[in-house]
Amino acid sequence: MKNADYLNRSSKAVWHPCTQMKQHERLPLIPISHGRGVWLYDFEDKRYLDAISSWWVNLFGHANPRINAALKDQLEKLEHVMLAGFTHAPVIELSERLARLAPGNLGHCFYGSDGASAIEIALKMSFHFWRNSGQPEKTGFVSVANGYHGETLGALSVTDVALFKDTYAPLLRQTYQTPSPDARLAEPGETAEAYALRCAEALAHYLEQHHASTAALIVEPLVQCAGGMAMHHPIYLKRARELCNQFSVHLIADEIAVGFGRTGTMFACEQAGIAPDFLCLSKGLTGGYLPLSAVMTSDTIYQAFYHDEVARGFLHSHSYTGNPLACRAALATLDIFAQDDVIAVNRIKAAQFTQAMQPLRDHPRVRHFRHLGMIWAFDIADTKPNFSQGFYQAALRRGLLLRPLGPTVYFMPPYVMEEEEMALLIQGTLACLEG
Ligand SMILES: *Cc1c(COP(=O)(O)O)cnc(C)c1O
Repeated sequence: MKNADYLNRSSKAVWHPCTQMKQHERLPLIPISHGRGVWLYDFEDKRYLDAISSWWVNLFGHANPRINAALKDQLEKLEHVMLAGFTHAPVIELSERLARLAPGNLGHCFYGSDGASAIEIALKMSFHFWRNSGQPEKTGFVSVANGYHGETLGALSVTDVALFKDTYAPLLRQTYQTPSPDARLAEPGETAEAYALRCAEALAHYLEQHHASTAALIVEPLVQCAGGMAMHHPIYLKRARELCNQFSVHLIADEIAVGFGRTGTMFACEQAGIAPDFLCLSKGLTGGYLPLSAVMTSDTIYQAFYHDEVARGFLHSHSYTGNPLACRAALATLDIFAQDDVIAVNRIKAAQFTQAMQPLRDHPRVRHFRHLGMIWAFDIADTKPNFSQGFYQAALRRGLLLRPLGPTVYFMPPYVMEEEEMALLIQGTLACLEG
């Protein structure tokens, strides 16, 4: 089959995510035949540089030989078994290794299938903890303005992106949004740190009044990704942790996008020297291979559920909870981190990439150039309303997969990106900015 045949059939039979399907009357779908490293290939052998890691999931390239080998080995042993009443080697090993890597003492790992299910789990667990602990009135959640935590109903309740949320407002729980420490919102002359502290004060003010009815605060540590790669100073997380301790409110760290080295440390929370009560992981967890998510929590939380009474337990489940293939892909991913000293190597690579981006930073249309770890982002001045879609298509014509968020263009490449590939990406992006 040729590209055109796939396009035709896919837009009829497949209801694509995050898409107004009618737009595919004029926007082509890109059928992908295979991938290798940072490249995706269509059926006519045109290639696309995957500069956004296929929606932020891929870490070590497509068709990674080491992850492939681990999965082939696992396939011959056990593809799946239910995790209620049964267990298996990959899920045990993954839970133990994650506990060693994660900040704090998050020694208990509960599994879901995707990011949104991890958020649902963390919200339910927090609420249920307070109920089991004789504080059933703690049912409220606080999230950060412009935050994103997924799109199932519970996760959407703490998400603050109007385009995804407003339509479903009648179905959602009321939650409170505290001001975002996004450094771009600082007053002229105000540092990112001072602004972050000012936002933490607003949070303090809210918690002072509402802590008795608040179960948890949920944050995306260091970078609000879907909200436009909004970056903040780590002092915000430090203050949030202190406030959560002071007011007996759980801190849920949604590291679904920023975990696994994306911000330059294995987990973003490390840069603030804090540990959350719940750490939500997905996306890069399996190196971008298979759907899997994890919610890691402390023994204090775990013990509140540990009881003779069944209903005090956490009775949540998904059919594919702890799937062995997905856990094995995650183990292979962690092996690569260890064997290749990825965090240290990325630090050098990121510095080189940032230097190569000087022409972008200097471009007259570029504002708020920002960088953290393996994320680069900048806002384009004077954009037309459909800028994002136009830029996406212009990039595709140049063989680049870029998907701006509103006026924000960002790079979130697989860590295997090399200098020559980054040079292609920068040149192509500059050309797209010329129109
Ligand atoms: C992607 C994302 C989610 C949701 O994950 P899904 O797997 O898409 O459900 C939640 N939180 C953050 C920060 C994300 O980036």
